[in-house]
Amino acid sequence: MAKIPVKNVIVEMDGDEMTRIMWKLTKDKLIFPFLDIKCEYYDLGVEYRDKTDDQVTKDAASAIKKHGVGVKCATITPDEKRVVEYKLKKAWGSPNGTIRSILDGTVFRKPIIVKNIKPFVRTWKKPIVVARHAYGDIYKSSEMVVPGEGKTELVFTPKSGDKKSVVIHDFTGAGVIMGIHNTEKSIRAFAKTAITYAIAEKLPLWFGTKDTISKTYHGYFKRLFQEEVDKRQEDLKKAGVEYKYFLIDDAVAQVVKSEGGFVWACKNYDGDVMSDMVATGFGSLGMMTSVLLSPDGHYEYEAAHGTVQRHYYEHLKGNPTSTNSVATIFAWTGAITKRGELDKTPAVTDFARKMEEAVIETIEGGTMTKDLMAMAEPKPAKHASTEEFIDAIAARLQQKIAKNKEL
Ligand code: NAP
Ligand code: MG
Repeated sequence: MAKIPVKNVIVEMDGDEMTRIMWKLTKDKLIFPFLDIKCEYYDLGVEYRDKTDDQVTKDAASAIKKHGVGVKCATITPDEKRVVEYKLKKAWGSPNGTIRSILDGTVFRKPIIVKNIKPFVRTWKKPIVVARHAYGDIYKSSEMVVPGEGKTELVFTPKSGDKKSVVIHDFTGAGVIMGIHNTEKSIRAFAKTAITYAIAEKLPLWFGTKDTISKTYHGYFKRLFQEEVDKRQEDLKKAGVEYKYFLIDDAVAQVVKSEGGFVWACKNYDGDVMSDMVATGFGSLGMMTSVLLSPDGHYEYEAAHGTVQRHYYEHLKGNPTSTNSVATIFAWTGAITKRGELDKTPAVTDFARKMEEAVIETIEGGTMTKDLMAMAEPKPAKHASTEEFIDAIAARLQQKIAKNKEL
């Protein structure tokens, strides 16, 4: 069978543990047999990151800036336990954090919906896309334990002119403080990408903060977001997209009661926490995809879950596993679709669509991994192993492509 040529490079970032195993299966069984594709490979597995003093992560981020599209496998963010387990030089920072701070931008997380998996939240019928601002706040903070009595202050020292300060707290005993920041540039970029995404997908856009309590910090986000919305008023109207601002508490309540079908723009921490809630509400972390969209128009696709360590340890013991590869496969189809769009090669985007259909039809046909069994209606007699599930998708994809050739 002739392979479909992909014109330009996709930056490929390999990862760790169970997802590294699914990564290879996906490439060998679903991608390379069908596409003539040039991937620029970066090994972000924890051992190679350690060997290169994490330089490989920075190089991968620069490569995404150069080529425009990347796809990433889940990776270990080492803590002290991992340092011992993998004999690392130190607990390197989160690769995702490093890549995000180089590319900036917004992370969009979207659940993949199939007919026979019923969400835990019964009202949810359409995807809820969580758009997480991926810069600043507690993720780029300075923290200090206050050992005892004393005054703590926030101080601004301008390049020229007078210092400004406000008291944080007059401590009478021990405590703790944290300084966080964000920038006008990054907040505006966050608002712009969320608005652009909502217009492209023709979905309502929601945003919430706690501006009643944090009048200055959260109020600043609310004001800049509204200004960016005002600038795009005409485009929003043309696309029929409505912007709604909520107090974050109200947003959370409305989300749970909604039927889905909107983009929920979240501040960094809200997006981190709420995307896990939304993923679980829809069924499984294995069904949640993620894309980082930078303000310069660079795209990085990945699964929203981690390296599924528990399953990997079973795999190492020689036990069968049933790990869901859907989000990993959709990371690849997301990158391939975007590559096809940017290169203007419809055969490439068409292939990605067929692969996504093959995945959904496989599950709807009753072949699924263990994580989905509890929510499946009807429940299949048995679950598929990690390999069986990918094999079933490959067989369906083959059929689809062969059928297309006959027409
Ligand atoms: P995790 O890998 O997301 O897995 C947590 C649990 O969720 C699993 O034990 C499993 O539950 C379930 N699960 C997640 N993905 C699944 C899938 N595809 N199929 C079936 N079940 C799935 O989180 P973790 O175990 O807390 O973290 C492991 C490592 O991943 C850590 O080293 C962390 O640093 C890293 N991490 C990386 C990323 C990233 O690269 N984007 C994100 C998060 C975490 P059961 O055990 O109940 O089956
Ligand atoms: Mg999280």
